[in-house]
Amino acid sequence: PLETLAEPLDKPFATGCRNPPIDAPRANATLLMLARNSDVNGAVAAIRSVEDRFNHWAHYPIIFLNDEPFNSTFTTALSSVSSGEVTFATIPRGMWSMPSQLNNERAQKAMVFQKDHKVPYGGMESYHHMCRFNSGFFYDMAELQKYRWYWRIEPNVRFTCDITYDPFIEMQRAGKKYGYIIALWELIGTAPTLYRKLSDYKTLHSFPTTRLWSALIKRSIAPWPIRKMLALTQRNRNSAGDKWNTCHFWSNFEIADMDWYRGPEYRNLFSFLDQDGGFYLERWGDAPIHTLAAAMLLKDSEIHHFRDWGYSHPPFQYIPATPKLRKKGDWKLGELQNVRVPEEVRERNEMRGCNCEVSFELSSVIH
Ligand code: GDP
Ligand code: MN
Repeated sequence: PLETLAEPLDKPFATGCRNPPIDAPRANATLLMLARNSDVNGAVAAIRSVEDRFNHWAHYPIIFLNDEPFNSTFTTALSSVSSGEVTFATIPRGMWSMPSQLNNERAQKAMVFQKDHKVPYGGMESYHHMCRFNSGFFYDMAELQKYRWYWRIEPNVRFTCDITYDPFIEMQRAGKKYGYIIALWELIGTAPTLYRKLSDYKTLHSFPTTRLWSALIKRSIAPWPIRKMLALTQRNRNSAGDKWNTCHFWSNFEIADMDWYRGPEYRNLFSFLDQDGGFYLERWGDAPIHTLAAAMLLKDSEIHHFRDWGYSHPPFQYIPATPKLRKKGDWKLGELQNVRVPEEVRERNEMRGCNCEVSFELSSVIH
C-alpha cells in the first residue's frame, strides 16, 4: 500500500549522525509509557534503550500510566533508569471502562465470540479498555495537560540507532502532527466494520481524500453491479465496494501532537466511534484508529515517517536501509517481509541511521 506511492510521503529529518542536542531548547514534550506493575522488567529495558540512544542528552520527562496504582518496585526501578523528571499516574476509571451507553451483556457476548474466533486479545476485556484509552483518552489525563507532544514507548521495545537530533523540535519545525516508524497489516477480524463506518463518516463530513487515505484503500475495479453486491455482502467495504487494505501505523511507537487529538475534529470522530461500540463489539486497535483518523483529518505533509530510526517491538523490527538497498528492491516501504538482513546492512557506514546495531534475534525485518 504505502510502497505503491510513487514518492514517499516525506524525507527523513536527518541522515547519519549529528551533534546531539545538549544545549538546544527543548520542546513542550514528554515521553509516555502505559504499563502494568508486572511489566517492570520490560519497562526498565525499554527506558534504558531510549536513554542510551537519546534521552541522556535531552532529559525529557517521562510519564508512566497504569490503570492500577504503581507499586514501589516499579516506581523505584523506573526512577533509577530515567534521566528526566518522572511521574507515575493512575488512570481514572471512566477512561478505562466501557462507554455507558453500551449494553454490557451484548459486549460480553461479543468478546466471547471474538475469543472463539481467535481474534488476538479479543476475549480480554482489559485489552479493549487499553485500545479505547489509547484512542480517546490518554491526552486528557491531568498529568499530560501541560504537554503538547508525546513519544509513546512500550515495555520491551528497543531503539537500535543513536537519535542525535530532537524529534519533537524537528516535527514542530516541519509542521508535522503524527510520526511513525513501522507500517504493517492488521488482521481484519479485529475491525471488520471499521473502514465502512469511517468511510461513511468521511463522506458525510466531506473530508478531502488524501494520498495517504488512498494508499490505505483497495479500490474495487469490478463493474458497478458487482461492486454493489460486494458492498452489500462484505462488511469491510464502503458503498462503492472499496475496502481497507488493513495497512496501519504500528502505534506502539508514535510521536505526535496532542493538540491534534484535543481538537474538535478528532474528538468528534472518536465519540462517533465510541458511540458505535466497536471498541468492544469488535476489537478495534488504537493503531488503525490513529492511522485512519490521520489519513482522514491530517494533510499528507503533516505525517512523518522516521525512516532513519532503528526500532524493534518483538516480533518485528525496522532497520533504516540505504538508498542503494532500496533501489535493489530488497526492501519495500511498508511491506512485511521475512528476510535475512543483507550483508551490506551490517556495515555501519552503509546505514542511513546513526551507529545502528543490527540484531539477528528477530526473524522479521520490516521496511
Ligand atoms: P501488543 O503490543 O498489542 O501485543 O500489546 P501489549 O501487551 O504490548 O500492550 C500494549 C500497551 O498497553 C503496552 O504498553 C502495555 O504495557 C499496555 N497494557 C496492555 N494491557 C494493559 C493493562 O491491562 N493495564 C495496563 N496498565 N497496561 C496495559
Ligand atoms: Mn506491545
